[in-house]
Amino acid sequence: LFVETSLSEGIEIDLPKNQAHYVGTVMRRQFGDALLLFDGEHGEWRGEIVEVAKKRARLRVTGQTRPQEAATGLTLAFAPIKKQRIDFLIEKAVELGVETLQPVLTQRTIASRIGEDRIRAHIVEAAEQCGRTAIAELKQPVRLKQWLIERTSEPLYFADENGGAPALESFRAPPATILVGPEGGFTDEEREMIHAEEAAVAISLGPRILRAETAALAAVTAYMASAGD
Ligand code: SAM
Repeated sequence: LFVETSLSEGIEIDLPKNQAHYVGTVMRRQFGDALLLFDGEHGEWRGEIVEVAKKRARLRVTGQTRPQEAATGLTLAFAPIKKQRIDFLIEKAVELGVETLQPVLTQRTIASRIGEDRIRAHIVEAAEQCGRTAIAELKQPVRLKQWLIERTSEPLYFADENGGAPALESFRAPPATILVGPEGGFTDEEREMIHAEEAAVAISLGPRILRAETAALAAVTAYMASAGD
């Protein structure tokens, strides 16, 4: 369970109403039961229920069960796509270990708003589900041009459906960024802008044209399998 309080041995925390309801009513946990907690920064902890009522739950933190996960150093920069598809993309990207999510607005981006609260909730839920102890950071959406100007010199793996080096042979150790385009692809002007970046490496994910979320997840999977841990 993700909690906003910084965790350490011996502290007691009151869960917010929605989580208390989930613990007491949905999970039917009782006095003395243990839950696993994380705050995004200090690993995983055991919390024992010392009080539980309809919309109240108080836990005592009794010890650490796992240290904080190692940073993966992987950023996924993606053009916002339709709601259901973006939700799927976010959930899977978190499971696979992405550390930073950067929405990039392109000329052919359909969505102008990404539903930040909804996406944050998906990030937390996916982290809880797969046992991550870090919460991926969701950055503010930024225009592609602006983002390219402001980024650092870390490698930028640009998923290019028009061809590039095979992804698995291109990746180097983190930190790194993977950039994937919108459903309609990048415009020629945008592709030129990306290729002009010194740190950009065009990668191919095979001869088929993948949907944006498939391409993003294929690239992240390949990266984690070859260069990340
Ligand atoms: N330009 C395309 C079109 O409309 O025919 C489609 C773009 S594709 C649906 C969306 C994004 O996925 C692309 O911008 C690219 O980043 C990535 N992508 C899709 N297939 C790929 C492949 N085989 N290799 C590398 N990237 C790919």
